[in-house]
Amino acid sequence: MPSLNQQIFIGAFVGLVVGSLLNQFGGAGEIQNGVLYASTLVANFFVDLLKMVLIPLVFTTLVVGVANLQAHKNIHKVWTTTLIFFATSTSLAMLLGLVVMNLFRPGEGMHLAMFHDAMGNFQPLKMTTSEFFVHFLHNIFQNPFSALAKGDVMGVVVFALFLGVALVMGGERYRNILNLFQEFLDVMMRIIGWIMYIAPLGVCALLLKLAATQNVELLATLTKFVVIVTGATLFHGVVVLPLLLFLVTKKSPFWFWRGAREALITAFATSSSNATLPVTLRCTEKNLNVRKDVAGFVVPLGATLNMDGTALYEAAAALFVANLAGIDLNLSQQLVVFFTAMVASIGAPGLPSAGMVTMVLVLQAVGLPVEAIAILLPIDRLLDTVRTAVNVQGDMIGSVIVQNYVDKSEQIR
Ligand code: ASP
Repeated sequence: MPSLNQQIFIGAFVGLVVGSLLNQFGGAGEIQNGVLYASTLVANFFVDLLKMVLIPLVFTTLVVGVANLQAHKNIHKVWTTTLIFFATSTSLAMLLGLVVMNLFRPGEGMHLAMFHDAMGNFQPLKMTTSEFFVHFLHNIFQNPFSALAKGDVMGVVVFALFLGVALVMGGERYRNILNLFQEFLDVMMRIIGWIMYIAPLGVCALLLKLAATQNVELLATLTKFVVIVTGATLFHGVVVLPLLLFLVTKKSPFWFWRGAREALITAFATSSSNATLPVTLRCTEKNLNVRKDVAGFVVPLGATLNMDGTALYEAAAALFVANLAGIDLNLSQQLVVFFTAMVASIGAPGLPSAGMVTMVLVLQAVGLPVEAIAILLPIDRLLDTVRTAVNVQGDMIGSVIVQNYVDKSEQIR
């Protein structure tokens, strides 16, 4: 019997191959419809199960994570290392996106007219960067019960941070509540273990659907952009992030990938950092040996704040739209793209195609036609796969790096 890891890998492969075959030769026959129907059922089942545990998991993980960090007197070190890592890796990703776009300039000479119909039907959400910022800040502090019920990860994260700190300050007095949370977390991890049994099937179904329903023609028109963005995102995931990991911790990328596989494939298949979170946490703790308190802090925070793939994509897509519109963005405009893409990636929730919504911000910031998003939307489902995997990878590498720092500082003491 192959291991769970291998089964997930096989599931992904089978899904992609069968989906592509259906796309090529399937027509609209009954078999194709049947297969698509079945895969939709299985895919929804898997993602719904992950979402079922998501909110209780994020909440308890963070509360317990923060509370236990304080016990180690390391909270300051963890906070700062985490935020420095998030900022560094996101900046590197965006820089990479901007550099490759300036080098290869896809979209130049392509005529916007060919997308005229698509753009005519598109109703963008209009919001300036400052309005977005107000909206973002306004959403941070919420009634925790409403955030929990709505499944609003950002609201849940913030309240959990407060609660974690309060539990620590109260010390012994709140020991029982903390123990309760700790045990609840244990139970959640057990349920996640069960859900993982169907992960190979779920991943297979998700990828089958994706490959079977891709519009190949549209993809071909935008090939150059798709190849460049995917290439740059992969470069960030395969070279830049592992290099950071190696430089700081001396750990080999192969060790990392072996441990992170399940999470990366799940992220690729679900296109959602949030849905993947239960798997990410499990891999980070079990396979990458990151302590529960560190992983419990860095991973959920990273799933909402740290999105390297999304940041890279948003910066690159802005330049692509500029090329399409025949506008040459100068250095200062590209700097604006850099900063708004960072805000946009922080503000984007870890949901499929969420980056597309915040993309509007980046385009508006430099006065580009927001309607151009209509060109990017049809290919987004595909690009979202790789960028979500890299988003999740960033959180896992961040956890290992933070753990390493904490260990070192403890040794010195
Ligand atoms: N799907 C991405 C994620 O969940 C967000 C995005 O870029 O659309 O991480």
